[in-house]
Amino acid sequence: MKIARFKKAHKTLNFFATNFEYREPYQILVDATFCQIALQNKVIIEEQIKKYFQSTIKLVTTQCVILEAESLGSPLAGATMIVKKFHVHKCGHEGAPVPASQCIKSMTKCGRYVVASQDRSLQNSLRKVPGRILLYLHKATPVLEEPSEASKKYVSKKSHKSLTSGLEKHVEHLKQIQTLQNEKLYNKIKQRKGPKNPNPLSCKKSAKQKARKPNSDISKESKLRETSKQHMQKQKRKRIKTS
Ligand SMILES: [Zn+2]
Repeated sequence: MKIARFKKAHKTLNFFATNFEYREPYQILVDATFCQIALQNKVIIEEQIKKYFQSTIKLVTTQCVILEAESLGSPLAGATMIVKKFHVHKCGHEGAPVPASQCIKSMTKCGRYVVASQDRSLQNSLRKVPGRILLYLHKATPVLEEPSEASKKYVSKKSHKSLTSGLEKHVEHLKQIQTLQNEKLYNKIKQRKGPKNPNPLSCKKSAKQKARKPNSDISKESKLRETSKQHMQKQKRKRIKTS
């Protein structure tokens, strides 16, 4: 049973570490309501949370939380003593303190805090904001609340966006490859269609060829003339003989 609880807490912490950049040591922002329940159930806060988280933690609070607890007087005297032992983080309300719940909400806007509180209305408003972690005591047992619907929705939207943008990039890359291949193919076809050997008609004749050809043509012509002369002479002779 205990192992299942630890596993669940580990899973929740992993979710927030992966999606909302929570890192060790986890900063636990504690208010007086949490300290009050811890006192009633004889819970040693630091010891129990460390054991439950199985990670390094740092317990912190704010001046506003301490001032509010002090203002409530004797019913919260024990809780005030406990909360005063934690590190006091600057909240920006120094000189003009605000209600503890308001202070905690503003702290979670700029920092990564696990909010340890038994304040129902504070829990409800934090559940509506993605990336907020809630810790509370169920009697003497610390419980790390599973990611709220707001956190889950935010993460699934983000992952969907990154998935679609990843797909778009992939498609764009494929298109680029296709155009490159088409260009290569076009160039190949172009090369094949063109003359493999230089066009003899368009080629310039070399000096040797130029010099040889007229001579050979002349010799051919003169040979033709000679044979036709001989032929004419033969014909003449024949005629003379017959006459
Ligand atoms: Zn404050």
